[in-house]
Amino acid sequence: SGIASGRPDRFDRIFGIETEYGVSMTGDDAPDDAGLVAMEMFAPVVSRTRSTNTYLGNGSRLYLDVGSHPEYATAEARDPMDALAQDLAGERVMRRLALRAQERLRERHGTDLHVHLYKNNADSAGHSFGCHENYLVRRYVPLTMIEQQLLPFLITRQIFTGAGRMTSEGFQITQRADFLDEGVSSATTRARPMVNTRDEPHADPDAYRRLHVIIGDSNRSQFATWMKLATTHLVLCVMESALRHGRPTGFESCAMADPNAANRAVSRDLSCRGARLQLADPAAFRCDAARADGGADYGVSALALQYRYCTVVERWLETHGDAVDRSLGRTRARMVVRQWRGILDAVAAGAFDALADRVDWVAKRRLLEALTSRRPDVSQARLAQIDLDYHDIANGGTYDALVSHGAMRTLLDDDAVQQAVMEPPAGTRAALRGRFVHAAQAAGAHYACDWTRLTLTAPVRRESVLLDPFDDSPTADFRSLMEALQ
Ligand code: ATP
Ligand code: MG
Ligand code: MG
Repeated sequence: SGIASGRPDRFDRIFGIETEYGVSMTGDDAPDDAGLVAMEMFAPVVSRTRSTNTYLGNGSRLYLDVGSHPEYATAEARDPMDALAQDLAGERVMRRLALRAQERLRERHGTDLHVHLYKNNADSAGHSFGCHENYLVRRYVPLTMIEQQLLPFLITRQIFTGAGRMTSEGFQITQRADFLDEGVSSATTRARPMVNTRDEPHADPDAYRRLHVIIGDSNRSQFATWMKLATTHLVLCVMESALRHGRPTGFESCAMADPNAANRAVSRDLSCRGARLQLADPAAFRCDAARADGGADYGVSALALQYRYCTVVERWLETHGDAVDRSLGRTRARMVVRQWRGILDAVAAGAFDALADRVDWVAKRRLLEALTSRRPDVSQARLAQIDLDYHDIANGGTYDALVSHGAMRTLLDDDAVQQAVMEPPAGTRAALRGRFVHAAQAAGAHYACDWTRLTLTAPVRRESVLLDPFDDSPTADFRSLMEALQ
């Protein structure tokens, strides 16, 4: 199919992260009303744009659906590190909205009022909300392959992507496992799939799918956000490359008999090696194991599956590593795999403490265990409160304290995050969207966007369609749109 300019290379990908936040407020006279907090946060957005759905100068989308979960969807990025920067920019934008809302709410409800803004996936009432990863995938990747070969990876990568959660029946690796009930499906309303196949590619539909990954947790750890995108990218690259060459991927025998049961089992297996996962063809996996895993026998645990994925990717990169790096820009694929294997080796050795500076669930569990050993009588409620505080972007101190004590790694500094608040990622259509939004705001014009369209609604009506997410070069329509804003 003929996307003319900026023709994407075979390993190019678009990454985007949607994060829904939970909100609440505390204080003697604070109403217990999350909807009120969300509306107050969006009051300045509404007064500026007359809408609770807007695009920002960095190309991202900021919106409030019905309910009380403000959402930030990052602009299209070509590199996981750019997507991480945009996700952190989202935290900063949301925090600012929350702290301003707090000032206004204090005038009405007392100076002890605090707004809480949680980058997590479950509230105390048992509701769950999402962090969706978006990956542009070639259309020729069949959904059966996503189900049989990607899903086992997504279920077991929680070893390093899980954000951890205190539940009434104990600590779990993930926030989300208990709220999902289907593998790969297009259902959106009642059922909650791990991968949603709703077909809205926001790109040439003949060439691409947009893979909508629902299974992941929101991460505070920058490393975890970067790694979940980077490792998933590499697994997808192996699949696309194998299909192009009519070869097997090496992931075939990982297909699961019951993804839902496996997902819940992985989330509860704090050793990552104990739970035996039911595969569709266990004999095939064992047979592959001798070859692929160098004779090591990790059973059929989350760890064993991750070793399989890591090893296949590592070998594939021996011949494709340079090409993958050229497509990415900043992230080095071999570095990703080194980090990946390092995590798995630490898990194999039971050396979880070594991961506490990178893996959210390990960091959180260590905090909770330290507190329990200092104060054996600590209440369940207090532990749950610390769990929540770890995710509170507005008034939480737990995660920031870890960072400032050097106990949690960061990959990007304040300046990089501030730059991502102002500027879109490089090399995608988000650059055009960003220029348009900045110009429209400066001119006081009325505008509307979606991912593939920029519309000027007043003083004149003009429109520019951006179907190719990899293309950042201005078209004639775009130029005429910008001229109308001079
Ligand atoms: P909703 O969440 O409202 O149901 P949605 O899934 O379309 O709708 P948005 O919240 O609008 O999600 O976010 C879309 C995400 O997909 C953004 O992060 C964006 O950067 C990303 N994205 C846009 N175009 C593409 C594409 N062609 N391929 C992959 N990701 C894309
Ligand atoms: Mg969304
Ligand atoms: Mg979505």
